[in-house]
Formats: sequence, C-alpha cells, structure tokens
Amino acid sequence: MAHPSPIKPALGRSAFVTGGAQGIGRAISCRLARDGYDVSIADIPPQKEKAQEVIKEIESYGRRAIFVTVDVRDAKQIEAAIAETVEKLGPNLFVSVANAGVTQVRPLLECTPEFIENEVRINVLGFMNTHIYAAKQMVKQGFGGRILGAGSIASYRTAENLSPYGATKFAVRGFTEASAKEWAQYGIRVNAYGPGIVDTPMWDHIDAELAKIENISIGEAKAQRVKREVKLGRIQEPEDVAKLVSFLASEEGEYITGQTIKTCGDSQGYRRSKS
Ligand code: NAD
Repeated sequence: MAHPSPIKPALGRSAFVTGGAQGIGRAISCRLARDGYDVSIADIPPQKEKAQEVIKEIESYGRRAIFVTVDVRDAKQIEAAIAETVEKLGPNLFVSVANAGVTQVRPLLECTPEFIENEVRINVLGFMNTHIYAAKQMVKQGFGGRILGAGSIASYRTAENLSPYGATKFAVRGFTEASAKEWAQYGIRVNAYGPGIVDTPMWDHIDAELAKIENISIGEAKAQRVKREVKLGRIQEPEDVAKLVSFLASEEGEYITGQTIKTCGDSQGYRRSKS
C-alpha cells in the first residue's frame, strides 16, 4: 500500500488519551487540545470528577472533550472506549496515547504473582491493546495517525525495587519499535515518551517511603531525590512531557517512528540508596 502523503493534523481531528484525568495524561490532553484536537479522556470510573476539570480546561481552548470510562486491563473496554470516542467525536481519530500506567516500589522477593500480574496487565497488555484498537480505527479511516505511549527512563535502565515496572517499560520500547515497522505502510507513526522523574501523584508513595526511611519530611525527600537523580536539577513537570508528545504528534516529527525518546533532564532514574 502506498504511504499516505503527510497531512495537516489538528483542527477537526481527535485524540484519545488513556489515564488522561491526572498527571502526565492530563497535561497531554490539555496540550493536544491547545494544538487543535478534540480529546477523549479515557480513565477508570473513580476519575470521572477529575476528568471534568480537564474537560473544562479543554473547552476553554475552544475544543470538545469527553470522558470515556476504561479499565485498560480489559481489552473489550478499550475497544468500546475507542468506539464511543468515534461515535461522539467523529471518525477522525488521529492521535492515540496509551498513557495509563502504574508503579510501586517493591523488592522482588516481596512481589506476589498478583502484584506482578496487575502491573503487566496495565502497563503491557493495556498498552498493546490500546495501540492495536487505535491502529485498527486509523487503518479503517485511511488517513494515517500518530500512536504514542508511556515509556520511561526505566525503558532503558533498570532500578532496584522496581523490577516488574522496569520489565513492563522495556516491553513498551520493544512493542513501539515493532509496531512502528508494521504500521508505517498505513501512514501511522508509533513512538513512546520516556520521562524521568515527573512531579505527579505517581511518586507520592515513593517520597513518603523515602521520608520514612530517612526520617525527613515528604517535601525534603522529594527535593533530595531530585538533587540526587536529575542532572538538570529541577523536577520534571507533566507539561515537559506533553511538549514532547505534541512534537511527536506534529508534522515536525514527521520522520520519527519506532522510538522511545527520553525526556528526563539526564536523570539517573530512581535510586533508593543515597549513594
Ligand atoms: P498517575 O498515577 O499520576 O496517573 C495515571 C493515570 O492512569 C491515572 O489517571 C489513573 O487513573 C490511570 N489508570 C491507572 N490504572 C488504570 C487502568 N487500569 N485503566 C485506565 N486508566 C488507569 O501517573 P503519571 O505519573 O501521570 O504516569 C503516566 C504514565 O507515565 C505511566 O504509564 C507511567 O508509568 C509513566 N511514567 C511516569 C513517570 C513519573 O515520574 N511520573 C516517569 C516515567 C514514566
């Protein structure tokens, strides 16, 4: 099949973002709206209220936004969430962001099969199935698309007490590279963003654990962690990640596919010890 010629995305097109109600997903949803996309915020039911705030912000940029419920552990729910997005925002899905993910610090010897299974179901299976259902819709529409997903600094270097998480993010990198090869023929580019340490609720329990270990406040623990682990010396904001997503979704990123791109301030990644 011939490669569709590059087209101007944005206006009149829509984006689908899993885990879009908070953290990095929220920043990505808002940034894509500012870039001209209508946005479908896909998240678990308890996030409905938070999603309403995101919808308000998106509407202030003059774009449409909807909340669709999805638990990415269930492939059928992903399929339904994409179908609902297309039904409500139109058959013009151009950007899909498999952002939903979980992490928890836990020594391997304390990881139960249930704990590992949950991380794999969300970070790997949920990620892959989101990509596949989005790609099916894009192929059906016939004008290409941009598929993005949450990698991590952990897609490149492992960290102690984060082994299952690291393994899931290595999988993200592999699947990104492989699916990009398969879907280039449809004008679909596939990339992942690889944040270091971003200021989102995901780290709250990690900072709390560090604070307990070192007998300091949670604020001090966060400051210490950033100083120790990030060369640029400031914590990354979710908007820093959204800038990369915006670039990769745009024509500026036209020749980039199959990549997991680190955006981490030259972070060393999470380390529990002070050394
Ligand atoms: P977060 O915990 O703040 O937000 C995650 C979002 O995913 C939430 O809205 C949550 O409701 C949703 N979610 C969780 N389980 C879900 C499920 N089963 N189905 C659907 N949605 C679900 O996390 P974040 O920091 O914004 O991280 C977003 C992504 O970026 C994750 O994949 C994470 O691994 C990755 N990442 C984050 C960091 C960081 O420092 N925060 C660093 C590297 C990579």
